[in-house]
Amino acid sequence: MKALGLIAQDRVELVEPPTPPVDQGLVGIKTLRTGICATDREIISSGFVRPPPGEAYIILGHEMLGEVVEVGQGVSNFSRGDLVVGTVRRGCGKCLSCLNQRSDMCFTGEFKERGVRGLHGYGSEYAVEKPEHLVKVPAELRDVAVLTEPLSISVKAVETALTVQERLKFDGKYPPHAKVLIAGHGPIGTLAAFILSLRDFELYVTGIMEESDAQVQLLKKLGAQYITNRGTHLKDCATELGGFFIIIEAIGHSPIAYELENYLGYNGVLVQTGITLGSSEIHLDSDKAMFRRVDKNQVIVGMVNSNIHHFRKAVGYLKEFKEKYGNLLNQVITHRYPLKDFRQALSNEEKNRVKIVIDFLS
Ligand SMILES: [Zn+2]
Ligand SMILES: [Zn+2]
Repeated sequence: MKALGLIAQDRVELVEPPTPPVDQGLVGIKTLRTGICATDREIISSGFVRPPPGEAYIILGHEMLGEVVEVGQGVSNFSRGDLVVGTVRRGCGKCLSCLNQRSDMCFTGEFKERGVRGLHGYGSEYAVEKPEHLVKVPAELRDVAVLTEPLSISVKAVETALTVQERLKFDGKYPPHAKVLIAGHGPIGTLAAFILSLRDFELYVTGIMEESDAQVQLLKKLGAQYITNRGTHLKDCATELGGFFIIIEAIGHSPIAYELENYLGYNGVLVQTGITLGSSEIHLDSDKAMFRRVDKNQVIVGMVNSNIHHFRKAVGYLKEFKEKYGNLLNQVITHRYPLKDFRQALSNEEKNRVKIVIDFLS
């Protein structure tokens, strides 16, 4: 079978590993699509290549949609023809989180991740997986279900913010029309906007797009207001609005991720989701920063990865988005490539790109 192998820094090749056997207790999956994201680009360009022990490459691909084509002995909850999405992280097997299906919150750091760290990904024509790491997807979501993994990250980001802000629920409700800012309109930011559009928040998105760009138009259809992050525009808006109740950072550029702290209001929470492997530095006025945070009960929290519960919630949201917004979600997938054009998929730098997908069937 063909697979996307990351061999060394900036070196991805189509490799031909043997097709894995569908042993007892496993499910055999034909990969339909795999999504490409900033994580893939970071590990390719940074040289942070971590193949499974003893292997010369790691198969990329942690975002996927597949179809069950074979079911191993002893598997009763999946059948041939089921559409499935696989989760990414495999827990350490030791800590309380990992022993309770919450490997995204591992305490030891000894986890592995398919397509990222120590385990082959789903970027191959065929993959096998244990049923407990798979989520079924209804057939009517086939066109958008490759978004399940990135959406699961947005689910966790929103959940993290709302969990912190439980401290500000009155009669079981968050303050009405509280202002929420999403920084970044890539997949995580855009999908977080979809989720938050279903709630009673005043929704803002900031980024570097022009008002006329298709992505901004999409965000406006969700009821979001767009603030261009040029000059002092964002700062002025934040001042005028009295700061934000929740900010979700989905840019992956640390100087901006820190700047966002300035735009929190009283009791605000900033959730940072971007992974940065660079070496940017900023000057920090630590007294002012600490005073502001303490004086205004502000919280800054980072989060990474997602667990199977977030994946299940994500599938539920995909259904809900489809019911409410029709095919709007399809616009999040801006580029599709056949497997043979994987280099173009990985190097696509178009300004309007959101989710890039490799289609294994075309
Ligand atoms: Zn990803
Ligand atoms: Zn663990």
